[in-house]
Amino acid sequence: MNFTFASYAQLLTLLRNADYKFCDYHTWNEEKRCVILRHDIDQIIEAAVKLAHVEQAMGVHSTWFVMLTSDFYNPASPKNLEGLRMIQSMGHELGLHFDEVAYVNPQEPVEKLITHEVGILSEILQTPVTTVSMHRPSQKTLDANLQIPGIINSYGNEFLCEFKYLSDSRRHWHEPVEEIVRSGEYDRLHILTHAFWYHEQEKSMGDAVQNFVDSAKHERYEQLVENISNLESVIREEDA
Ligand SMILES: [Zn+2]
Repeated sequence: MNFTFASYAQLLTLLRNADYKFCDYHTWNEEKRCVILRHDIDQIIEAAVKLAHVEQAMGVHSTWFVMLTSDFYNPASPKNLEGLRMIQSMGHELGLHFDEVAYVNPQEPVEKLITHEVGILSEILQTPVTTVSMHRPSQKTLDANLQIPGIINSYGNEFLCEFKYLSDSRRHWHEPVEEIVRSGEYDRLHILTHAFWYHEQEKSMGDAVQNFVDSAKHERYEQLVENISNLESVIREEDA
């Protein structure tokens, strides 16, 4: 499978043709044969907005997990918040993407930290947040079957045990996802994708990373121009 919007749309078509109902973390139990589409936003919200549009065009909804502790993006910045609101307006759900490593020597149990972050994200979005996924969870967290009042844990036992889990982590499907969907072997699928890797045209992993790094330089400069008057007289973007 390629990492293009067209390939992703084709995967959605395959799912539909194999009779999977597009469900979410709240509704999966209502269908015998269902798929939950999970997206973790690890790097960039604009990429999420683009892939969310692909789903919307196919009449499909999914859950997008947002980090509060990322060094790459700030969900409260006006630009990012607008992107997140767009995703919501397409009928998708936003959940918390929680990174346990963000806490060095945490004084509180992980359940409390998640509840704390869910509260902040709900405030930022002005919407209740009721789902959480983990960013690179430790084995301990995977085994913990964390129960958090009012919050559905995408690593809860029901999802780990009752679903076939497929993921494109590190831009690599570890199993042949299309074949598995086509075979119809599993009644419940839980599919994790990272919008960061998907583009209009196929890009290698190296090119995708290179473009992301290059665009960051441009964005940094633009942000500085907005904050420092006459910056161009000190240093031009091409010299930065
Ligand atoms: Zn992640």
